[in-house]
Amino acid sequence: MKNKLEKAILTHNLDEETIIELLSTGIYDDLLFKAADFVRKQYKDDIVHIRGLIEFSNICKQNCKYCGIRRDCKNIDRYRLDKEQILSAAHQAVLKGIKTVVLQSGEDAYFTTDKMAEIISALKNLDLAVTLSIGEKSTEEYRALKEAGADRYLLRIETTDRTLYEKMHPNMSIDNRLRCLRDLKKLGYETGTGCLVGLPGQSPESLARDILFFKELDADMVGLGPFIPAPETPLAGEKGGSLELALKVMALTRLLLPDINIPATTAMEALHPQGRTLALNCGANVVMPNISGCNYSNKYALYPGKSRLTVSPVQTIDYAEKIIQNAGRKTGTTKGFRNE
Ligand code: SAM
Repeated sequence: MKNKLEKAILTHNLDEETIIELLSTGIYDDLLFKAADFVRKQYKDDIVHIRGLIEFSNICKQNCKYCGIRRDCKNIDRYRLDKEQILSAAHQAVLKGIKTVVLQSGEDAYFTTDKMAEIISALKNLDLAVTLSIGEKSTEEYRALKEAGADRYLLRIETTDRTLYEKMHPNMSIDNRLRCLRDLKKLGYETGTGCLVGLPGQSPESLARDILFFKELDADMVGLGPFIPAPETPLAGEKGGSLELALKVMALTRLLLPDINIPATTAMEALHPQGRTLALNCGANVVMPNISGCNYSNKYALYPGKSRLTVSPVQTIDYAEKIIQNAGRKTGTTKGFRNE
């Protein structure tokens, strides 16, 4: 295995069988994490980019079985930020030196393409890179949002296992999800995808295929996190995914896609107080503090422990900078595109 990992550091290829073996046993974890950290340093240096995450609506028409903001969750406080609130959060981030904002929401029909285009062009006037994470859209809608100035788009495949995908996503189709991702690539977005790790019924074989899919798509960003059971969802009583397995999927992704951007996700921190620092040591090079504002940062409750505190944008950015510093790394000063 040591030889295989040393070869992968140079070739950025691993066969499916080896990936499955690495995911199935803990004995090579140290070697794997060191290999991923080596590749991260080689391609991304010690720079960590901060993206300001604005979770601007938790209203969603979809009913994904794992998600705490799914349509059928009746006991959560639904909210929407208006354009002014989004711009105010972005403005505070700009004053802190942030160069990218990520607009994330449930699939909320209130935010039409025209409304989103207006918000995007106002954000571009602040000289920000704009990432969208607003779910499945038509080709035409993706095109219009790109023309309005959006630079990047995050849409996790969640799982490439067709049967599991359809079980987890009532009335959704994996073929449409794949169409969305291919559209985004074709339209010139920096395209992010990723998966949930530890879904009930997910096997190491299926996770290995997810990792190979990220490479086949040539994803520009990959966001991964452990599945965390959320109350009032059909999966509330299930066992969640482990941090170790999520870190292994992340490390393998870094080995195979050496120059991409990989965030240390909050789901990792929900399972371990130093989750994001651990992720930075296993291949991650991005952190995404929530800058939605004190009244909202705890309402976007995808899973328990997502946000322990209600804190201001300035506080969450300061905290992200502290994580970067404590990990012995430096905060990026550019927009942090894949090829920078
Ligand atoms: N609606 C957009 C979409 O579909 O991409 C963005 C919002 S969606 C809530 C963001 C991500 O949250 C999903 O891609 C999913 O992987 C993650 N997520 C949802 N529920 C989760 C849970 N219970 N545990 C961990 N991650 C979860």
